[in-house]
Amino acid sequence: MSAVLTLSNISKSYGGKPAVRAIDIAIPADSYVSVLGASGSGKTTLLRLIAGFEEPETGQIAFDGRRIDGTPAHERGIGFVFQTFALFPHLNVRDNVAFGLANRTIAPVTDKAEIDRRVAETIAMVGLTGLERRSVTQISGGQRQRVALARTLVTEPKLVLLDEPLGALDAHLRARMRDELRQIRKSLGVTFLHVTGSESEALAMGDRLIVLDDGTIGQFDAPKTIYAAPASPGVARYLNAYNLLKGERRDDRFVSEVGTFPVTRQSIKSSTAGGVYALRHDRIAVRDAAAPGSAEEIMVPAKFIASEYGGASVLSFFALDNGQIVEVEEHLSLGAPKTFERDARYGLAWKPGDALVYA
Ligand code: ADP
Ligand code: MG
Repeated sequence: MSAVLTLSNISKSYGGKPAVRAIDIAIPADSYVSVLGASGSGKTTLLRLIAGFEEPETGQIAFDGRRIDGTPAHERGIGFVFQTFALFPHLNVRDNVAFGLANRTIAPVTDKAEIDRRVAETIAMVGLTGLERRSVTQISGGQRQRVALARTLVTEPKLVLLDEPLGALDAHLRARMRDELRQIRKSLGVTFLHVTGSESEALAMGDRLIVLDDGTIGQFDAPKTIYAAPASPGVARYLNAYNLLKGERRDDRFVSEVGTFPVTRQSIKSSTAGGVYALRHDRIAVRDAAAPGSAEEIMVPAKFIASEYGGASVLSFFALDNGQIVEVEEHLSLGAPKTFERDARYGLAWKPGDALVYA
């Protein structure tokens, strides 16, 4: 796959504090790439560097076969959709969308018929036909989001940067827009680089996923690959799907505060300082406290705290004997969830091969 955007050794700091550290990455053309990271991990800074609202302190950026660092933002031909939408409140829907086309620096479109045709086409694509004359102050949040998207897409950029574009929408609308954004991108064949703080959004939307960890790339791969095998405890933490136990590896054993677990060779992910034992929420079974142990399973005692019902699954919280909370996820497709007694003791069980060991 050819790259539409390449960052080489890109760094940026604010007041001596690094926000983006020596990033190297190649973004494939015609792809949906999501960027996941904690608040403050450098997601917005990364997009602003690519767009040209900030200049990097080191490194180079190449877009569509040419170097663009040092080029003013409006000459880069890269689209940007802001979380706040940033629409012109005094213009109606149609004129907000048309604005970008008539006023852009590269190849402005001045032919009125051509503007009308392209604006109508884009408005139809984002599902706003009929609302052209409406003021952008008199439409819903979801509709404003679509205007912001249309205003960028009408200029036909090869790359669109979206900074938490669904953050201001309610849950229902967010779910619908996920689908639509993927459809729209696919039909245009452009690349979307979509920043989000939501792990479910990042996993669901990206063909590829970048996990940003404190200004560096923690991992860049297919979402499924990252979910099944995060490259580091830091990446595992952002996925919000793993329990992380501290300890240390001694040969084929992992020694933690709550027990010593056998380690299989395929469990060992990386040898970093500070041992971490990672256990996916949905790889843990809950047994009676008195259930007999088995050779195939590790079991540790824990006290039930509470359960939280989601749409398709139930998340239960247990306290280990050292006080650490462990989350257990049961998918409802596997049958009705068990009910647990508050403060009662249970056994949490898993197969040694299901754990990931960073030690
Ligand atoms: P994210 O979008 O992932 O929440 P940001 O890229 O906004 O993260 O910020 C990364 C780091 O850089 C944070 O520590 C933030 O405080 C700092 N930072 C971002 N923009 C500025 C700025 N304009 N001035 C000073 N510090 C900034
Ligand atoms: Mg941000």
